[in-house]
Amino acid sequence: MTAPIVIVGAGQAAASFISRHVALGSRQTLLLIGEEPHPPYQRPPLSKKYLLGDLERDRLFIRPLQWYAEQNIGLRFGTRIGRIDPRNRQVVTDTGEAIDYDKLLLCTGSSARRLPASMGGELDGVFTLRSIADIDRQAPEFRAGRRLLIVGGGYIGLEAAAVARQLGLEVTLLEMAERILQRVAAAETSAYFRALHQGHGVDLRESARLARLLDENGKVCGAELESGEIIAADLVLVGIGGSPNIELAQAAGLECGNGILVNAVCQTSDPNIFAAGDCSCFERDGQRIRLESVQNAADQGDLVARHLAGEDISYSAMPWFWSDQYDCKLQIVGLNQGHTRTVTRPGNSESSLSIWYYRDAELIAIDAMNEPRSYAFGRKIIEAGINPSPELIADPATDLKALALGR
Ligand SMILES: Cc1cc2nc3c(=O)[nH]c(=O)nc-3n(C[C@H](O)[C@H](O)[C@H](O)COP(=O)(O)OP(=O)(O)OC[C@H]3O[C@@H](n4cnc5c(N)ncnc54)[C@H](O)[C@@H]3O)c2cc1C
Repeated sequence: MTAPIVIVGAGQAAASFISRHVALGSRQTLLLIGEEPHPPYQRPPLSKKYLLGDLERDRLFIRPLQWYAEQNIGLRFGTRIGRIDPRNRQVVTDTGEAIDYDKLLLCTGSSARRLPASMGGELDGVFTLRSIADIDRQAPEFRAGRRLLIVGGGYIGLEAAAVARQLGLEVTLLEMAERILQRVAAAETSAYFRALHQGHGVDLRESARLARLLDENGKVCGAELESGEIIAADLVLVGIGGSPNIELAQAAGLECGNGILVNAVCQTSDPNIFAAGDCSCFERDGQRIRLESVQNAADQGDLVARHLAGEDISYSAMPWFWSDQYDCKLQIVGLNQGHTRTVTRPGNSESSLSIWYYRDAELIAIDAMNEPRSYAFGRKIIEAGINPSPELIADPATDLKALALGR
């Protein structure tokens, strides 16, 4: 009997691979192995409605547990894979059990970066935000009147700040760069979210470097900044980015960089092993990149299933992303890296606008804040390879639908 396709990591990419495999009627058996005790679930609501207490846990699961049983998919949750033996085509659990695979799909995701213990990262009351377990630990601490310090002004930190304000906490947010979202967005987008958070009472500090967290009997009680300023806090959330879970792949001798290196069908340097989602590092426009987004995880998982079913395809999906903060929905399409110019297009209300990114004359990405039309038509415009002039985009009278239809 042929060994199964083994999937390590039961998250977004794994769920997408399995759904496509089943939809294609592929016959080969599957075994899904994940270290968390849950079937694959959506992480985006963790820093939004789930932290707010506005979403039942069952709603997080991508499919009910029963569905996997109905499809005869082997499941091993609460099981961590500690080693891959590529020569014998086996994965080995932390408890030493060897499991054969025909093909192996690594969907191990990424981990939240932590502050080192020397800076107080291990104190009680210091949290990161990555899993259901993380939220279940910290949600009871999110009570009105408590003082929350957030370290990091990226999307997760900002979303958590919005939830905390909605729950009545006092929030201070530290960003060591000159501006929040500096790594991922233009200054105009940062300015929009700075004003949004300040308008909701967040004490937002940019160019503010943390020296260390302060300790009171093993529990965090505040922070000292490099400037010497002391900020009191009852709890601290660290949102300083993620790093890909590549240790398994590295130890097995697979080529890795900022992620597990894969080709256009998500195949690693071992032809029997594939990698998809946050852990994979792939080529786009001649550069190796790694994305942490639902779109990328879902599209890559889907692609591997199609490839293994014999379809002749390669990965070329258009990146998109979203974030929810208070009453603002941010939608992003494309990648803005290497942009040389941005243009702001006003929206229909005070809280809506979009930022259009150009690399020379080429339109490459859009950040749309409460602007679903700009997002939807802008996405079509980028996908069609149309490059409207910045002046045309900046003019609110320009009909985006007509542009998208090439009129
Ligand atoms: C709080 C939060 C909010 C987010 N919000 C958004 C958003 O608004 N929009 C968006 O597009 N994206 C968002 N993301 C990113 C998105 O959720 C991820 O990009 C996506 O989940 C990646 O899917 P994945 O399958 O690669 O990894 P994951 O879904 O993270 O799954 C990886 C799984 O592998 C398991 N694993 C790792 N190593 C092993 C091992 N050795 N053995 C067994 N199991 C292992 C992990 O425990 C984990 O369960 C958010 C992420 C977080 C954490």
